Amino acid sequence: KIHSQIAIIGGGTAGLNIAAQLIGDGHAIPQQIRIFEPSKMHAYQPGWTMVGGGLCNVKKTLKPMEQVLPKNISVSDSAVTKINPQKNEIETQDGGIYTYDQLVIATGIQTNFDQIKGAQKYLDDLNSPVASIYNYKYAVKMNRLVEEFEGGNILYTEPPLPIKCAGAPQKIIYLSHDRLNKRGIKTHHHFYKTAGVIFGVPKYAEILTELCKNKQINCHFKQKLVEVQDHIAIFENQDTKELKSVTFDLLHLVPPQFPAQFIAQSGLGDSAGFAHVHPNTLQHVTYKNIWSLGDCSSLPTSKTAAAVMAQTPVLVKNLIRTWKYKLDPIPGYLGYTSCPIFTSQTKLLLAEFKYNSELDETFPIFQSNESRLMFHLKKDFFPIAYWQIMVRGLWGGRDGLRFFKGA
Ligand code: FAD
Repeated sequence: KIHSQIAIIGGGTAGLNIAAQLIGDGHAIPQQIRIFEPSKMHAYQPGWTMVGGGLCNVKKTLKPMEQVLPKNISVSDSAVTKINPQKNEIETQDGGIYTYDQLVIATGIQTNFDQIKGAQKYLDDLNSPVASIYNYKYAVKMNRLVEEFEGGNILYTEPPLPIKCAGAPQKIIYLSHDRLNKRGIKTHHHFYKTAGVIFGVPKYAEILTELCKNKQINCHFKQKLVEVQDHIAIFENQDTKELKSVTFDLLHLVPPQFPAQFIAQSGLGDSAGFAHVHPNTLQHVTYKNIWSLGDCSSLPTSKTAAAVMAQTPVLVKNLIRTWKYKLDPIPGYLGYTSCPIFTSQTKLLLAEFKYNSELDETFPIFQSNESRLMFHLKKDFFPIAYWQIMVRGLWGGRDGLRFFKGA
């Protein structure tokens, strides 16, 4: 058995950020931290909306994992299959057994395209007009399909929540709408949502409803995509369970999303299988040396990288307080999250809120409407900031840059 002081499961946005801040703040040396991450590439997933929307090259959204992992950190490249929290043990797919003093679960949320009957087949078929920005290959396909589109019906879907970046299913509508409009292509845009409202925060819901009305985007609520056939999408009405077939010339679908099963199977999940942590301290509700953040956590806020940036310093502080100083954790996270919604090829609505859909805006004067300034912040600044600052743990959210005390 190999022992680490701190084990981090997942080398995504959250896992990398936690590791970098623990090391940068001098709480642990890299060799004492082990990251479990089977993926060879790290992705800047918010960039995939821009790939599908024709604003960014996919190459800018991917980097080899070894380029973003902190130097000298211990790594296991086999997926975790089980945690035994009573024994402080982790099991990996290749049969490895590891022990830890402190554990951070940061495995994200899985995209399950195959939960929609027929979806995978049509997504993989380069000649079929079905795409999704929730995967980088299908995002590239979306860009091409919109570029080559010659008119007709486009359907955009959204599965049951929670999903990562709940605004993304509609960002791609506004981006595609604008591109096709500029080319003068006659198109009918239809948005089929499983939920009953366009956005969970009333202020932004009002702005987006008006926007759809002006752009003649037809919204259909409580409609869940259950099957894809040749140019036909089948929806289930969430009230009556009735099925309805709709023909399309282009379909943008968003996959149903679930946390990794080993979390629930290890007795660490809430009723939906997300790692069950305290909403303000990020400490597991039963095991005091287990922590979670990001998309796989039970934190009842919108799942975004922006939320991860606000959660990380709270988790790091609380992990160190309880472990090294035997103090109680501080309830420092209030649910901050942000969703930059592209509303065209030049404008963006920046939504920022916290628990209970309460507004938590940084630039209120720019956030009551679509803004060109916010568009450039998202398109030009955030991707650079992500690779240069965020994955290196140097972003303190609205507290600005973090300056490490040094290891
Ligand atoms: P991830 O970054 O997904 O990382 C999880 C990691 O865990 C992965 O590397 C995975 O390989 C690893 N893993 C999984 N299972 C195991 C296992 N069993 N063992 C070991 N490792 C495992 N956020 C924003 O803030 N703004 C946006 O505009 C925005 N737009 C988005 C648009 C799209 C299309 C998408 C897909 C996402 C968007 N997001 C946005 C959301 C953002 O990308 C996520 O919220 C963020 O990446 C969450 O970080 P995470 O570390 O929790 O999960």
